Amino acid sequence: MGLKKGEEYLQSIKSLGLKAHVLGETPEDLPEHGLVAPSQKAVAFTYDAAHNSETRDLFCTESFLCKDVVNRFTHLHQSAADLVNKVKMQRYCGVQTGCCFQRCVGLDAANAIFSTTYECDQKHGSHYHERFKDYWRWVQQADLVVDGAMTDPKGDRSKRPVEQPDPDLFLRIKAHRPDGIVISGAKLHQTGMLNSHEILVMPTLTMRPGEEPWAVCCAVPTNAKGIHYIYGRQTSDTRKLEVSKLDVGNPVYGGQEVMTVFDDVFVPHERVFMNGEVDFSGILVERFASYHRQSYGGCKAGVGDVLIGATALIAKMNGVDRASHINDKIVEMIHLNETIYSCGIACSATGEQTAAGNFQVNMLLANVCKLNVTRFPYELARLATDVAGGLLGTMPSAADLADPLAGKYIRKYLAASPEYDTVDRMKVLRLIENLVAGAGAVGYLIESMHGAGPPTAQRIMIRRQAKIDQKIDTVKHFLSIK
Ligand code: SF4
Repeated sequence: MGLKKGEEYLQSIKSLGLKAHVLGETPEDLPEHGLVAPSQKAVAFTYDAAHNSETRDLFCTESFLCKDVVNRFTHLHQSAADLVNKVKMQRYCGVQTGCCFQRCVGLDAANAIFSTTYECDQKHGSHYHERFKDYWRWVQQADLVVDGAMTDPKGDRSKRPVEQPDPDLFLRIKAHRPDGIVISGAKLHQTGMLNSHEILVMPTLTMRPGEEPWAVCCAVPTNAKGIHYIYGRQTSDTRKLEVSKLDVGNPVYGGQEVMTVFDDVFVPHERVFMNGEVDFSGILVERFASYHRQSYGGCKAGVGDVLIGATALIAKMNGVDRASHINDKIVEMIHLNETIYSCGIACSATGEQTAAGNFQVNMLLANVCKLNVTRFPYELARLATDVAGGLLGTMPSAADLADPLAGKYIRKYLAASPEYDTVDRMKVLRLIENLVAGAGAVGYLIESMHGAGPPTAQRIMIRRQAKIDQKIDTVKHFLSIK
């Protein structure tokens, strides 16, 4: 089957015939829909980069599973260098697309499931690991996009899954059959789901004894019977449906999230990788979350590069690029962005081999990375807004620019540095608007806060991973305190 090109990927998604509820309709040709197409192009970019002579070495690697060259987005990390290359690849994709390119979630899920199933089998005598290897070998050979589905609706947060008035508020095993299981529930905020071939369902939190039906991990095709998709709105999303692309900000690419409902979906045994083993649910959640917190050290730094570039350019266009306070602000943006990236690299370079053989990121540093990501992009956005000026929120539309009379006034009164065209200045302002307040801000800001868990989840992990008792012992030893 080999490495797909972007166009082959797009065709393969089209052939799945997925349907979704989008703004009150169920479009016949979903991939061509104006809200969906930009997000598919962002995923297609990850395919084409594997064929580009300049990026092939970063995007392609050898798989020990299928003994062939695979796209790194399906790779099971074999070294700390693999983890570092993953982050470099994500930064590159972020810079090139200026948005969430969606393909990392399945990669992170696969690496977490690979090591967790191995350890589960060792303890419980189950046979999940070999099953998962067979499944993932097929994914690698077919070069598929896999959505990692973790976030349950969770209902009343003060109640455990078993206490919820509606047991489906946490996705669960509803029935056991001789040939498999039937699952019921929903997964929210599913990044790139409509652009995926497969779904890896995982539990959303550490389950306890008595909560076995909710300790489930399995693989489901995105077009399986019983799955329903409801498109998630993004700020200013309908600008993507307008004739002119100028007001969209990001003219080619975009992200995508959906609510995914599993209405009694059957999963055969060969696709089940956890079936009630509550003691491994938390391990899987922590590992997946840590991988995805590492991922943010790459993708958010890449999108940050776009925002910094746009901010520096608008400063030139406005004629203020030589002002020292503007330079200070741009340097501050670079400092924050490179701090994010440094954490992504650090948690990768200090990653360690798991019992199953693949490499896991340094969990402490991955959580520090993500905690920074919950704050720094917001500061970058604030500084970009400061430098760009108030026009960011008041600029006339592309439709008025096209009007002979209004357009004449817009060009006349929005002119700034004579070295730059007024419409180019408007394009840059729209790009900044997209990232700080428009559709791109869903990926760059809201997702930075809540994706891979909110800041409190990282604080809990940092406290747990930091070995504070060792630090206390060091001080006691240093001061001869018994
Ligand atoms: Fe990948 Fe970043 Fe999007 Fe997550 S938020 S899927 S890491 S691009």
